[in-house]
Amino acid sequence: MQHDLVLYNTLSRKKEVFKPIHEGRVGLYVCGPTVYGDAHLGHARPAITFDLLFRYLTQIGYKVRYVRNITDVGHLENDADEGEDKIGKKARLEQLEPMEVVQFYTNRYHNAMEALNVLPPSIEPHASGHIIEQIQFVQKILDNGWGYVSNGSVYFDVEKYNKVHHYGKLSGRNVEDLLSTTRALDGQSEKKSSMDFALWKKASPEHIMHWPSPWSEGFPGWHLECSAMGTKYLGDEFDIHGGGMDLLFPHHECEIAQSVGALGHETVHYWMHNNMITINGQKMGKSLGNFITLEEFFEGKHPLLTQAFSPMTIRFFILQAHYRSTVDFSSEALQASQKGYERLMDAYARLQRITATDSTTIDVQGLRQRCFEAMDDDLNSPIVISHLFEASKGINLISDGKATINPEDLKELKNVFDLFIKDILGLKIETGVSENTGDGYKGAIDLLLQIRMEAKANKDWATSDKIRKELTALGFDIKDTKDGFEWKLSR
Ligand code: ZN
Repeated sequence: MQHDLVLYNTLSRKKEVFKPIHEGRVGLYVCGPTVYGDAHLGHARPAITFDLLFRYLTQIGYKVRYVRNITDVGHLENDADEGEDKIGKKARLEQLEPMEVVQFYTNRYHNAMEALNVLPPSIEPHASGHIIEQIQFVQKILDNGWGYVSNGSVYFDVEKYNKVHHYGKLSGRNVEDLLSTTRALDGQSEKKSSMDFALWKKASPEHIMHWPSPWSEGFPGWHLECSAMGTKYLGDEFDIHGGGMDLLFPHHECEIAQSVGALGHETVHYWMHNNMITINGQKMGKSLGNFITLEEFFEGKHPLLTQAFSPMTIRFFILQAHYRSTVDFSSEALQASQKGYERLMDAYARLQRITATDSTTIDVQGLRQRCFEAMDDDLNSPIVISHLFEASKGINLISDGKATINPEDLKELKNVFDLFIKDILGLKIETGVSENTGDGYKGAIDLLLQIRMEAKANKDWATSDKIRKELTALGFDIKDTKDGFEWKLSR
């Protein structure tokens, strides 16, 4: 099938037909986490958005090199290049090596991503492992005259750059506005202008992460790592750079200036940004008490949560919104997503049990095409999900004996469901009904609960309690009902 994939490019502010630089191959760079704390919802959205893009590009035949970095140096407490290094501070407070902090939170990030069924990138470079490349990048910017050394630190000369190029073209800002909104420099500042950003910072005596450079013992500025590692692994020009909208300014704006400053041209062809997440209508923030980590979601351990929400519920919730729309998290919204996800998975399980007859009385043709069209239109996952829900109605009719399907259409329907649910949307089956284990497994649990009912009827409480206890410990939710029992796998 021919695909005209259309993606919204933040740089041009419009949807564009995607044309890779090299036929059949895509270079994709996404800003990864700063590893000084647990992954939270703010991490889940870009990870899932660009996982969807990665999966889709791969599905439609591209060989994708997906680079997602680990920020483990140079991310200061304040985006204006001030304050302590976030990882260094954590290491100092907890008396750890900075790399112990990095490893600890990187492992936890990986676990959370695996739970969300986010595929690992092709390359996951660490900023601390690319200091030489970053120093070389700074040197090129200096050689081309776009930077200056001040007291051992190196800054990008924004005003000089802006005389020739437009600083602010990605985020739609201009230097005049920026000057009026940034804090005026005090007499002590090393910078020429408040807009200038650090390429290299001389380390103060208490700063524990530092490296030698031609200018000082110090460390790279935060924006530099993505320019250095992106071009190292994907070339001086590459296809797509992604990240959250919060990174648009200053991070990505500075990346553009650095590329032009060092290479004489821009690096990225398509800039993609996912929108942000609010919680109960509020911005997320540690001070607001609504900073919910992914683990707290999975375990239901946060005062704002009425229950635990499984990783697939979170994933489904994020995919139910277009990546450029805002998303508001609340327990009620998540409960609705959980229901929707279970409904879709239920239809998927029913589909596996359907037997074909000689005629088809539901609409199967065109489903594949409609789902592809939605994905080709700037990754419109909510529309894909609505098409799958529509098809689920037909599946339920067949399984209730109110409609039929022929073998060929059944095969097509199964293929489309597998392709879009599992391969493209990346949803996994979490409930007790699994396609691999099928009815045999379900039957075994039913049988145990049947035995338990008989034990209860015989007042054999020991056996009845034992079965209930053991199944609960294995992660099954068991409920006694009027006419028997209900169960599901709770994790
Ligand atoms: Zn970045």
